[in-house]
Amino acid sequence: MIKYIAYCRRSIEQEEKQALSIEAQIAELKEFALKEKLDVVEFLTESKTAKVPGREVFGQLIKKIQQGEAQGILAWHPDRLARNSVDGGQIIYLLDTEKILDLKFPTFWFDSTPQGKFMLSIAFSQSKYYVDNLSENVKRGNRQKLRRGVYPSKAPIGYYNEPRLRTIEVDRQTATIVQKAFEMYGTGNCSMADIQRFFFKKGVRRKKNDKMLPMSQVQKLLSNTFYYGLMKYAGEFYEGIHKPLISKGLFDKVQQVQKQRGKPRKQAHNFPFLGLVRCGECGASVTAEEHFKFYPSTRGKVAYVYYHCTKRKIRQPCSQRYLNSVEFEKQLRELLAKINLPKRWAEKWLEKLDQEQKTEIGRVEENTTEINQKVQTVDQKLGRLLDVYLNQEVDLLSYQQKKSQLLEEKVGLKEKIAETLKNGNDWFEPMREFINVAAEAAKTARAENNNQELKLLVQKVGSNYTLLNRQLFCQFKKGFAEVFSFGGSCGAASDSLQNPIWWA
Ligand SMILES: [Zn+2]
Repeated sequence: MIKYIAYCRRSIEQEEKQALSIEAQIAELKEFALKEKLDVVEFLTESKTAKVPGREVFGQLIKKIQQGEAQGILAWHPDRLARNSVDGGQIIYLLDTEKILDLKFPTFWFDSTPQGKFMLSIAFSQSKYYVDNLSENVKRGNRQKLRRGVYPSKAPIGYYNEPRLRTIEVDRQTATIVQKAFEMYGTGNCSMADIQRFFFKKGVRRKKNDKMLPMSQVQKLLSNTFYYGLMKYAGEFYEGIHKPLISKGLFDKVQQVQKQRGKPRKQAHNFPFLGLVRCGECGASVTAEEHFKFYPSTRGKVAYVYYHCTKRKIRQPCSQRYLNSVEFEKQLRELLAKINLPKRWAEKWLEKLDQEQKTEIGRVEENTTEINQKVQTVDQKLGRLLDVYLNQEVDLLSYQQKKSQLLEEKVGLKEKIAETLKNGNDWFEPMREFINVAAEAAKTARAENNNQELKLLVQKVGSNYTLLNRQLFCQFKKGFAEVFSFGGSCGAASDSLQNPIWWA
């Protein structure tokens, strides 16, 4: 009498959502074996896909058959046994060599004749067809998305996957952090590790353990063209319909900095505010210097940083003395902390700004028709290029090269459009930036260990930083100066906020 081994399998992957559960398969097979009076010596179960060869339990099954422990296999359907040509072929071969004498399926009739084997091989290849078709469908879905300009994968940091519309939208909270990271790195004053720490501090972390993003991920983020509008998928570039977070100009700058930074060079880590301040007495630049003090019994060697006038102006004698870095930083932070726009004001103004901009954009859009036509021409070229490629008149490499060339041209044109739009309402962006900076300044000034971020803020809100008699002064830039009506240099905070004349 033939001994059977029952084999039950269900993949945990998406593809077999409708397949019978392993428990159900066991129950069905037991009932079937009873009815057919089959001698089942063993039940083997496995929860792996049969798309690719290399299933462990399936391997045991074959081995047991080869060793003569059983001569028959019982399974729910041929597709439980094999969904790839290697495993299917193996079963057929075992039938040919009479190691397997019989196969039983409740859902498929088989007998070991040439016709039976032929039918079985068709059942196997049908299962293979199903799998192939499935991945083809996934690919097709992806291609359609790409054609629509939607990234068919998980949205990068700064965006999220909109589940209903199946688009990629800006995640306001993380988007500003990503923007700032690009800006900071673009200045050339930050290392990749600075950006890594910056992300961590702002709460952009690894999901699984709340730790810092790996350096490789930070690096990848800073070279991801997605952020200015081009998405790379499977080695090719596509134009996205998602809203860019940064300009191509900033992106290029960041790439350049990355390239330069690849070469090792000395870092002035302790002097983050170098090149920012001039001497209030003689006008020479203020530099920083490191000194060490030795405390034999307590702290050992301790470094102190001092900011002082370089006294380089020969004709201008200067009597200024140094200021230590702790005091320097404290004064700088105090200056910036005065910029404190209440949050609800900021929100109100941003809202109003959005409204005004919308009406303005409508007016300007009419002026961009010509560039839009150029964009259409590029689109047509892209279409023709695809045809030529599909007709195999050009090879893949030249196709890709030409394609990315055209896409870059298109991005350039689109930026031009954006610029034209901006020219019509060029005060919106600075205004928005101004409000955001003004609302965030005090918070940034009060945070700890954020010198790089602080420096960026320092450059944004003020100029003419001077050091006189160990006191730091500055001129707030337009807008900031008007809001606080400091009349040039900063003394005390004013309460003119309650009366923002400049808004009109
Ligand atoms: Zn001086």
